[in-house]
Amino acid sequence: MLTREEMRRLLLVHGPEQEELFAQSRESRDKHFGPTVVLRGVIELTNVCRVNCDYCPMRRDNVRVNDTYFLTADRIVELSGLIRDSGIDVVLLQGGETPSVLPILQDAIPRIRRLYDNRVEILLNVGNLKRAQYERLRAVGATSYILKHETSDPDLHFAIRHETLESRLRCLRDLQEVGFKVGTGLISSLPGQTLDSIVDDIELAGELGVDMCSVSPFIPAPNTPMSVSPIGDNELALNIIALLRLRHPHLLIPSVSALERVGGGGQARGLDAGANVMTVNFSSAGDQKRYLIYGKDRFVVTLDHVRGLVRASGLEPRGSVFIERHVASGAATR
Ligand code: SF4
Repeated sequence: MLTREEMRRLLLVHGPEQEELFAQSRESRDKHFGPTVVLRGVIELTNVCRVNCDYCPMRRDNVRVNDTYFLTADRIVELSGLIRDSGIDVVLLQGGETPSVLPILQDAIPRIRRLYDNRVEILLNVGNLKRAQYERLRAVGATSYILKHETSDPDLHFAIRHETLESRLRCLRDLQEVGFKVGTGLISSLPGQTLDSIVDDIELAGELGVDMCSVSPFIPAPNTPMSVSPIGDNELALNIIALLRLRHPHLLIPSVSALERVGGGGQARGLDAGANVMTVNFSSAGDQKRYLIYGKDRFVVTLDHVRGLVRASGLEPRGSVFIERHVASGAATR
């Protein structure tokens, strides 16, 4: 078992030692999941958010100046049809944190399930909600939920998100108790983040008992209080992916678009480091420009890009790992 001290050291390795770390991580991934990559299709629901994260251009203070939008349930179902036609059975619905998306989701989710004849994982990423709201989303057929802890350092978390880490973790526990498969995630290279706190992030994923965890290198975005902070280090993010895999082999770990944004070829290296999920963007070109996750010039992941990377990495695309159990539980048919 890796000690904290060993993890701190491995977070900074380069060259042959990093390649050895990645090789061990790939071996662990392939042992648990086979040499496969889960494909997701994402639809971005809205760029309106009630939270004011200092690193995000969709933060509350920017809502008045941003070109805001909400997708209708009809449009979400239409885009889900494109995901289905691409052979992808994980529909990720994500957006800013606002209760206004709830009625839209409650309308759209059962219709998406019908579109797929129930053979679908509906994965949500719409932030902190009340437990009763999570229960409603689960009851209409959502399968899984991403709620990133971002950083396990409570002071840093509050300083950059103006929300407590505790409230985030409470929501994560609610989600698990309500029956969701749950994902967390962290941002690496945040100003003020220590190696020790990154080791805490890796350990927290285990303590929470989550099913998924992402790693995104920090990207300074325009029109945010952190726009002049230094861009994140891809190598550090890749080493975190590898250590997460070695510490918690069962996790779904995406190779995120931010890796591509920081450095060309970053997502291929994410797969090399042991990631096993890739997400294709199905939002319309107009909405992609308005969904300002890293500012206007973010890297938008296409199906061709993902298929090319998966093939070049010697891996096979695959479907959801959660559908079987969900269908068996009967929740899918509600
Ligand atoms: S990162 Fe998410 S929660 Fe924070 S402001 Fe942006 S959309 Fe809202």
